[in-house]
Amino acid sequence: MSQTHNWCLTLAFLILVVLSTVGRAEPAPPQPAPPLVFMHVTVIDATGVPPQPDMTVVITGDRIAEIGLTQHVRVPDEAHVIDATGKFLIPGLWDMHVHWYLKDFLPLFIANGVTGVRQMWGMPLHYAWRQDIEDGTLLGPRMSIASPIVDGPNPIWPGSMVVRDAAEGRQAVTRLKQAGAEFIKVYSLLPRDAYFAIADEARQQGLPFAGHVPYAVSAAEAAEAGQHSIEHLTGILEACSTREEEVRSERVEAFVRRAPGQRRPSPAHLRPLIRMMLETFSPEKATALFARLKHHQTWQCPTLTVLRSGAFLDDPAFRNDPRLKYMPAHIRAQWDPTTDFRFRARTEDDVALARLVYQKQVELVGMMHRAGVELLAGTDVLNPYCFPGFSLHDELELLVQAGLTPLEALQAATRNPARFLGKETAWGTVEQGKMADVVLLDANPLEDIRHTRAIRAVVLNGQLLDRQALDTLLAQAEAAAQAVPRPLPDDVTITIPTPDVPPALAAFSGRWAGQWGGTLDHVLVVEKIDGRTVTLIYSWGVAPAWNIRTPGFQRVHGTVGEDGVLRGTLGNGAEVAYTLSQDQQTLSGEYVLGGRTTRGRFTRQ
Ligand SMILES: [Zn+2]
Repeated sequence: MSQTHNWCLTLAFLILVVLSTVGRAEPAPPQPAPPLVFMHVTVIDATGVPPQPDMTVVITGDRIAEIGLTQHVRVPDEAHVIDATGKFLIPGLWDMHVHWYLKDFLPLFIANGVTGVRQMWGMPLHYAWRQDIEDGTLLGPRMSIASPIVDGPNPIWPGSMVVRDAAEGRQAVTRLKQAGAEFIKVYSLLPRDAYFAIADEARQQGLPFAGHVPYAVSAAEAAEAGQHSIEHLTGILEACSTREEEVRSERVEAFVRRAPGQRRPSPAHLRPLIRMMLETFSPEKATALFARLKHHQTWQCPTLTVLRSGAFLDDPAFRNDPRLKYMPAHIRAQWDPTTDFRFRARTEDDVALARLVYQKQVELVGMMHRAGVELLAGTDVLNPYCFPGFSLHDELELLVQAGLTPLEALQAATRNPARFLGKETAWGTVEQGKMADVVLLDANPLEDIRHTRAIRAVVLNGQLLDRQALDTLLAQAEAAAQAVPRPLPDDVTITIPTPDVPPALAAFSGRWAGQWGGTLDHVLVVEKIDGRTVTLIYSWGVAPAWNIRTPGFQRVHGTVGEDGVLRGTLGNGAEVAYTLSQDQQTLSGEYVLGGRTTRGRFTRQ
C-alpha cells in the first residue's frame, strides 16, 4: 500500500470518527492510564554500569519512556508520581526453569517481582494462560513455553513424548514445531541417535532445543550439537571425570537394569558411580570443557535451588519454611521426602554423598562463570521446596555463594534471559524504550543480594502494583492454598506402570485435578493399572450447586476400553468416562447420572 493511499484511509477514518461522535451523547472513551513516574530513584539497570543515583524514570503505557537525572527530566503534569528517594529500581526478574500447572500460583510470581518464566514442560493450558495474560484478563508473568518433555523409551515421567530412534526424533521436532513449541525440551533417557537427529532436525527447522544432557551423550557433544541450554548441570560433573566414558556407559547400563516399574536405578547402583565421579574430578578436563561450552555459546541454567533441596531435603529448615503456607496440602505432601520416589530409597551414606556432589556443583558454577560460560537463573519450581516466585531470590543468593557478584547474579535473572531468548531489545534491562517490567526495592541489592526480596512495588507491562496490591495477591494465594476442598485417603500409592503396560494406558497413571461443570472440584488418582483394569480414587469437594456439603472420596475400579477411554461406575450409580488428550496432559471427562451429562477437564498434577 502506498503512503498516499494509507494517508487517505486515515483521513477517511478520522472523518468517520468525527461524524459518528457529533451530536451523540456518548460516554468519553476510556482515558489511557496517566504516565507513571519514579523520582529520585537509584537505577540499577542491569546493563553492567554502576548504580545511577537520583534518577527519574517515566513510564508511559507499557514502555519506559524516559530515564534521566531528576533535575533534567520534565515530569508530565497528569503523571502518577512516586517519590522513590532511598529506593532502587531493577528490571523485572525471570525464573528460567519452572514447571507448574496450577493457576493459583501465577500471582506468587508477580508478588515476588518475577515478571517472566520459562516453562520447561509446555502444556496447552500454558498457551491459554499466556493469551489471557496478553489480553489483560489474567495477571501473570510473561512466558517462554517449551514442548512437552521428549524422552527415550520407558521415560522417567509419565506423559513424556517418547522417541525411540532417529526417525522418531525428526518426526517429533516437526510435530512439536507445528504445535507451537518455542523450543524442544530434551530429556535424560534419549538414545544417542534420537538425540542427534533431534538436534539436526531442530537446526534445520530453526527451533532451539534445551534441557538435560541425555545420559548417553557427553556434555561436549551436546554443546557441539547446538543444545541451547543445559539444565541442572546435567552431564557436567561426568564430563570432568578422567573416567568419563566409564561413568557414562555404566549409568546408561544402570537405567537399563532398573527394576520393573522404577523410574530410577537403585541408589546402590548409582553410589559407586557418583563416588568415582567425585574422586576422578580433573580441573584440566573441567577447563577444557568450559572452553568448549563458551565457544559453542551453550548456556547453563544450574538451578542450584533444586540441587540444594535435593541434597538437603532432610534438613528441618525446609519443612519449617514459612513459605509453605502458600502451598496446598497435596503439594506439601509431594514435597515430603518420605514419599518422593527420588529420595525414599536413600541411606545416610547417600545423603552425605549428595551433599558432597552439591558442594562440587556450587564450585563448578563459579568455575564456569570465571571461564566465561553464560548463566541463567532458574529454580525448578514445583520440585520440592522450589517455591513459585519466592525461590528465584534463593537462586540469586546461591549464585552469589557460587562466586558471582550481586550484579552478575541479578543479570542472570534479567539481562541474560533476554539475551538468551533473543529479546534483548524488548526487555531485560531498565533502559529507555524497553517494556516497563521493573521492581522497586527498599534496599540496595548490590550491597546484599538478599535485598531483592525487599520489594516495595512491581511494574508489569506498565501496570503498577504497590506494596498493598502485592500483599493482597499474597493473601489470596495463601487463602487458595489453605482451602482444602478435596480429601484423599492416607494410603494413596501410585504404582508406576510396568514396561509391559502399553504407553496409551500407562499415561493415565498419576493424579489429575479439575472441575465438573466448572463448579465441582474433582481429583482423580489413577493408582494402579493391571491389564485393562485400573484402580482409581475418585474424590470430590464441597459444591452447593450439586447439593454436596461434605467433601469425600471413594476407591473404585475402572476399565480402559479398546477405544482408549477410561470408564468407571461410582457408588451413586454415576458413570464416569475420561479421555486422554493427545499430549497426555489433560483428561476430558463425562459424568452421567440420571440421563444428565456433565463435562469436566482435568490436568495432570
Ligand atoms: Zn525441571
